[in-house]
Amino acid sequence: MPFDYIIPTHQGRAAEAILFSLLGGKGKNIPSNTHFDTTRGNVEAGGAMAHDLVIAEGKDPANLHPFKGNMGLEKLEAYLIEYGDSVPCVMLTITNNAGGGQPVSLENIQAVSKLAKAHGRLFIIDGCRFAENAYFIKLREPGQGERSIEDIVRDCFSCADGMTMSAKKDAFANIGGWLALNDPDLAELARARLVQTEGFPTYGGLAGRDLDAIAQGLVEIVDENYLHYRIRTNEYIVERLDAFGIPVVKPAGGHAVFIDARAWLGHIPPLEYPGQAVATALYEIGGIRSCEIGSVMFGRQLDGSEIPAAMDLVRLAIPRRTYTQSHADYVVEAFGELAEVKDLLRGYRITKEQKLMRHFTCEFTPLS
Ligand SMILES: *Cc1c(COP(=O)(O)O)cnc(C)c1O
Repeated sequence: MPFDYIIPTHQGRAAEAILFSLLGGKGKNIPSNTHFDTTRGNVEAGGAMAHDLVIAEGKDPANLHPFKGNMGLEKLEAYLIEYGDSVPCVMLTITNNAGGGQPVSLENIQAVSKLAKAHGRLFIIDGCRFAENAYFIKLREPGQGERSIEDIVRDCFSCADGMTMSAKKDAFANIGGWLALNDPDLAELARARLVQTEGFPTYGGLAGRDLDAIAQGLVEIVDENYLHYRIRTNEYIVERLDAFGIPVVKPAGGHAVFIDARAWLGHIPPLEYPGQAVATALYEIGGIRSCEIGSVMFGRQLDGSEIPAAMDLVRLAIPRRTYTQSHADYVVEAFGELAEVKDLLRGYRITKEQKLMRHFTCEFTPLS
């Protein structure tokens, strides 16, 4: 990752909080392919607006486009013209977590960089799953098949002005993250902020052993055998659920399997949270913990109104180097049981919620 200044933080969201405390604020507009929930939360907490400009294929769970995380380039260009100087930076999430763990092509990353530069804007990559994204580029992008993961990773980051990272993702660590920047003045401001909120710039709120784990994790994460096993596990679960007729986001994403709850539970309207109904039932049946990524997560608007999210998905995030084939089969069996009773599931109503990022702590009651 060829950045000049690396500023360690205790998690990815802490890097986001520092970045947007410097670049965000009232009247600012920040585009991304899809902002991750904590990214959106940090943008909005400072008073700026977050906008998602992913390609149309990225919002269609059944579409087999190889890079469904790509930024819509025409949308971005129109956005940069419309919002002009109120845009401090262009973000790009690789892979596109909230959009189904879908990859972004190297060609798209470079095109976003070009557009940002042409309009004089910083280009910041949310790189949480950079290694999985690079592996998809190697597998699917013409001309990339013979290149090493390291080379592809370097190309992805060398056209950016900075990155945010959660080391809990593609750095194999239990905790940690960082903000990387090339601009010395911005980096100095970020470090000053870091000292207030995280710790000294040499450790950013982390213990030394965690920094060591990150360093080793970054070496191991680009191992192609590991990446192959990881991606293949997800594909396997997707193939099996598909065979049950359960609608899943296809092709399989990098770090997770995503169920299209809106399509599967057609009898539950989006604002009665079909994704939450699947997540709850899956836990009751199999003790499997998943996460709604849909109208619970993104439905509440800044003005207090509520509108359905683009999709109502359920994410089964797969921990790295944790599960075996029999765990995957267990998950599939639990879904088999759930499929038999899914027409009996009911929606939910939220009884308690925070204004921002409500999904982390809100409470529900089942509808009868
Ligand atoms: C996890 C994640 C974050 C936030 O990182 P934390 O370490 O959990 O704070 C930000 N963006 C993406 C894409 C993520 O997956």
